[in-house]
Amino acid sequence: MKSWYRPGSLLSAVDFLARHSGCTRIIQGGTDVMVGRSRWLDDDVHWLDLSGIAELRELYVGAEGGLIIGAGVPIARLRVDPNVVQYWPNLAGSASQTGAPAIQNRATLGGNICNASPAADNAPALLAYNAELEIIGPSGYRRLPYRDFHLSYRRTALEPNELLVRIVLPRMPADVCHYYRKVGTRAAQAIAKVGLSAVLHWNLEGAIDHAQFAFSSVAATPRLAVALGKTLCGKRLTQISLAQIQGLLEEDIAPVSDIRSSDSYRREIAGRLVWQALHTSIM
Ligand SMILES: Cc1cc2nc3c(=O)[nH]c(=O)nc-3n(C[C@H](O)[C@H](O)[C@H](O)COP(=O)(O)OP(=O)(O)OC[C@H]3O[C@@H](n4cnc5c(N)ncnc54)[C@H](O)[C@@H]3O)c2cc1C
Repeated sequence: MKSWYRPGSLLSAVDFLARHSGCTRIIQGGTDVMVGRSRWLDDDVHWLDLSGIAELRELYVGAEGGLIIGAGVPIARLRVDPNVVQYWPNLAGSASQTGAPAIQNRATLGGNICNASPAADNAPALLAYNAELEIIGPSGYRRLPYRDFHLSYRRTALEPNELLVRIVLPRMPADVCHYYRKVGTRAAQAIAKVGLSAVLHWNLEGAIDHAQFAFSSVAATPRLAVALGKTLCGKRLTQISLAQIQGLLEEDIAPVSDIRSSDSYRREIAGRLVWQALHTSIM
């Protein structure tokens, strides 16, 4: 290791990144980065430790009612924060199923999405809630819709000298229905075979007028099922079949077989989770 730097401000962090461009590794909670610890620490790189920047740990409801989550907010706080539990329950749900309590205490939301695993448990909630990201780099701040963040397998829209600062969730209307479910081998310490976060609104005629379905572990990146959401809008429950959902999902997802599951099981479960989300939300 060349050096370990733990700045107290974002500006110092960005300055450090620019001065050591191309040879710096960013670490927040370290639960992904440190898994390959001996190899990482042997690398000839500078380490930028973001855990001393108070701004990254802010969690509050902003003036317009949206939720502002610093990239360094531990997953454990999202699980119990009263605002998250009440207004963005899918995120509280996914936080409570990320790893296990010891991991949740160190792991951060920013690390979960910057690590860019297609299985990241909290990514579907952020997609379904239309999250926006605030990013800082040498030329200042920029905003990016989260749906444009994951470019391909493990590749994000972050430029080399940029940092994720915060995640912003718009306020949800009071009458939308929220659904989250993770299917894994066990209830804790299991990576998702499939995860679904859905946000739905049914109008007074009993038809869907807003539908966002976002998945983990069904493609190379966390995936918003755009075709499915669009097609289901305007439909009543009686006009939707499981076969139709499975067919529509073919446009949106591309699961693979790996050590955790097969592509066919993932396809089957993805459709059934959508079916369950529709049926439980209309009641
Ligand atoms: C035992 C165990 C169980 C786990 N179980 C789960 C699980 O069930 N579900 C799940 O989703 N994950 C799981 N994980 C993975 C991990 O805990 C999460 O992805 C966690 O949220 C990562 O956050 P972190 O702060 O520890 O990230 P770090 O390890 O510090 O960083 C992760 C990546 O993000 C980058 N990064 C971090 N912060 C920023 C930033 N602000 N700007 C730019 N880049 C940044 C780092 O450079 C690194 O590439 C598990 C890990 C372990 C060790």
